Amino acid sequence: MMRQYELVERVQRYKPDVNEALLNKAYVYAMQKHGHQKRASGDPYFSHPLEVAAILTEMHMDEATIAVALLHDTIEDTTATRAEIDDLFGPEMGKLVEGLTKLKKLDLVSKKAEQAENLRKLLLAISEDVRVLLVKLADRLHNMRTLDHMPEAKRLRIAEETMDIYAPLAGRMGMQGMREELEEIAFRYINPEAYRAVTARLAEIFERNKGVLTDIEKALSGLFEKHAINAGVKSRQKKPWSVFRKMEAKALSFEQLSDIFGFRVVVDTVEDCYRALGAIHTTWSMVPGRFKDYISTPKQNDYRSIHTTIVGPSRQRVELQIRTREMNKIAEYGVAAHSIYKDTGGKTNGAGHAISKETNAYAWLRRTIEQLAEGDNPEDFLENTKLELFQDQVFCFTPKGMLIALPRGATPIDFAYAVHTDVGDTCVGAKVNGRIMPLMTELKNGDEVEIIRSKAQVPPAAWESVVVTGKARAAIRRATKNAIRKQYSGLGARILERAFERAGKNFTKESLKPVLHRLARKDIEDVLASVGRGELASTDVMKAVFPDYKDERVTPAAPKQREEGWSKIRNAAGMLFQIPGRAARKDKDQPRDGAVPIRGVRGDLPVRFAPEGAVPGDRIVGIVQPGTGITIYPIQSPALQAFDDQPERWIDVRWDIDERTKERFPARVSVTAINAPGSLADIAQVVASNDANIHTLSMVRTAPDFTEMLIDLEVWDLKHLNRLLSQLKDNSSVSDARRVNG
Ligand code: MN
Repeated sequence: MMRQYELVERVQRYKPDVNEALLNKAYVYAMQKHGHQKRASGDPYFSHPLEVAAILTEMHMDEATIAVALLHDTIEDTTATRAEIDDLFGPEMGKLVEGLTKLKKLDLVSKKAEQAENLRKLLLAISEDVRVLLVKLADRLHNMRTLDHMPEAKRLRIAEETMDIYAPLAGRMGMQGMREELEEIAFRYINPEAYRAVTARLAEIFERNKGVLTDIEKALSGLFEKHAINAGVKSRQKKPWSVFRKMEAKALSFEQLSDIFGFRVVVDTVEDCYRALGAIHTTWSMVPGRFKDYISTPKQNDYRSIHTTIVGPSRQRVELQIRTREMNKIAEYGVAAHSIYKDTGGKTNGAGHAISKETNAYAWLRRTIEQLAEGDNPEDFLENTKLELFQDQVFCFTPKGMLIALPRGATPIDFAYAVHTDVGDTCVGAKVNGRIMPLMTELKNGDEVEIIRSKAQVPPAAWESVVVTGKARAAIRRATKNAIRKQYSGLGARILERAFERAGKNFTKESLKPVLHRLARKDIEDVLASVGRGELASTDVMKAVFPDYKDERVTPAAPKQREEGWSKIRNAAGMLFQIPGRAARKDKDQPRDGAVPIRGVRGDLPVRFAPEGAVPGDRIVGIVQPGTGITIYPIQSPALQAFDDQPERWIDVRWDIDERTKERFPARVSVTAINAPGSLADIAQVVASNDANIHTLSMVRTAPDFTEMLIDLEVWDLKHLNRLLSQLKDNSSVSDARRVNG
C-alpha cells in the first residue's frame, strides 16, 4: 500500500508547491475512518481510495481532487458525515465528496429506468464540478482493475455498465487513456473468447513485425534529424477492443485492418507538425483518402492531431499521428489536461469547475444537461445520451423504425446496403429526416433515412471510396464490374463514331456483327469495350468493316482546320490521321461539337485526372489510356507533349458539371513559404477556411529562408482555385503560390 509520503512525493513531482497538509490530513482521516474494513479481495479497504488517488496523480490532478479521491467512500461506508468533512476540509470539498456519495448509491441498478435516473444524477453531479467525474472515473477504473474479486454475476453487470456509460463518457471528455483501459477490461469480461483471440493474434502480428517496426522507427527518426525537426517517435499498437469493434462494424478480416501498426510523432510546435508531415509524404507514398487534419479542424472532444497513412518499407500500411506535446496531453487526459494548465498557470484556488468551461467537451456536457432539464422521460434521455456517447457509431432508423447501427462517417449509401444489398444497388437518392439530401451526407445519430430507389440504377464505382462499411464496399465492387465494362463500351462507341465520321462513313453497331471473327472478339459489346480500353485501334475496326478503306479518304474539312492549326500525321503503322495542332487545342471554341461530356470521376465514363489535376473552368483534352479509360489534362499541360505522336489516343472532351455536384476536383499548386514559425499552419488554415481540402502535401526544397512545397488540393472549380491562390499569395507567410501545369 502506498505510504503517505509517497503520495505527497508523487504530486510534488508535477506540482512543487503542493499543499502537503491537505493531502496528509485527508490520508490520515480516510485511513482511520475505513479502519479495519476489508475489500472483497481481502485487502484493507483503504487501499481502494488510495489507488484511486494514485490514478489521479498520473493525470496530474491538483491536491484538492486527490484529497477528494481519498475521501470519496467515507460518507457512504464509514461514520463520517458531510458536516464533519465540511468542518475539517471546507464546504467545497464536502460538496464534492457528497456528490460522489450520491453516485455510489446509484451503482449497479439494473432496471432501465433506474439506470437512466443514475445517468441523470451522474451528469448533474458532474455539471457542478467536473472533478466529480474525474474521481468517479478513477474509482470505476480501480474497481474494474480488481473486478476478479467480485461475485461472477456482478462482474458482467459492472463490465457492461462500464462499456455502456463510463468508457464512452471518458472518451467524450477526451480522456483516451482512461477510455482504452476501461474498454479493454470490460471487453475481457463481456466477451472473453473474442478478447483472447484478438489479443493473441495482435501479439503474434506484433512479434512477426518487430524488426520492421524498429526499421520504420529508425527511418522516421533519421528523417526528422535530417530536417532538423525535434520529434519523439513512438510505435503504438491498436487496442484489442478497437480492433474487434472495427472488424465487426466494417465486416473486415484481420488482414484488412490497415492501422494495426501506428506511430505517434510528438513535436514541439504546430509548425513542426506540418513540416514533419511534408517530410514524411516526400519520403514514402501515402495512402489516398487517409489524410486528416484535426489541427485546423479539431474533433468535438478537443482532440487535435494530423493523421496520415503511408506505405511502409515492406509494403505494409502504417498509420501516423503527428501532434505537439500539448495536443498529446489533451489526447491522453482530455478535460483533465485543461485543469493542469489552469493550475500550472499560477492560480491554484481549486476552482476546478471553472477550468474546462471553454472546451468543446465541456460544452457538450452542458448541452446534454440542458436537454436533461427539458426532457421529462428519463428512458428517452438515457437512450439519447447513450447514443451520443458512442462517438464511433451512429444509430439511424428506417421509416418503419428499424434501428441500423453504422460506423461514424457512414453515408445513406452505407445505410442502404446495411438494410439490404438490393436496396443499396438500386439506391439513387435519400431523404434524411424527410428532406432530400446528397448521398454523400454524413449520417448523424437518430437520423431517419428513407432510400429512394430506381430499378435502372447501377452503383457508380466512385461510391466505393465514399462508403465506410465493408458490406457496401464489396457489393459496389461486384455491381460496378459490369458497369465499368459498359463504360468502356460506351467510350468505344464514341471513339468509333468519331473515327467513322472523319472517314465519311456512317457507324452502326450492327455493322460490326459480320466482322467479329476478323477482330477476334466474341460480341459487339466486346469490340466496343476493347476500343474503349485502347486495346483495339479504331482504324483496325474501320478496316475490318470497310476492307477497301484507304488512308486517302481522310480528308473532310481539311482546309479550314489546317488554318486553325490542324495537321495530318502518320502513325507508326503508316495510317494517316488528322489531329488538332497546339494552336487548335488552345482555341477558344470549346466545347466543340462531338466533344465527350465529362462529369468527373463519378460520371458515367471511365475518367481520371492528370497528376497535376484539372478543374471545371479549365479547357481540357482527354488521352485514352489503355486499360484505365480517359485521363483528363488541361490543354496547356506540358505533359501532353508525350502524346503528340499518338493521335489515336486524343479525344475531345468538355466539362458537363451540374451546379449541385458534390464532387471536388484535383489541382496541384506550388507554394513557397517563408520559413517562420506558424507559416505552414497559416497555409493549412487558408485552405481550410476556403472550404478546400488538402489531399497531399510534400516538400520539394527546403532552404534556410524558405520552403517550397507541392500541395494537391481538392476544389470546386477554377474560380474557387483562383480565389484560394490569391488568398495564399496575400498571406504574409507565403512568398509565392501558383498552379502547377494548370
Ligand atoms: Mn470507491
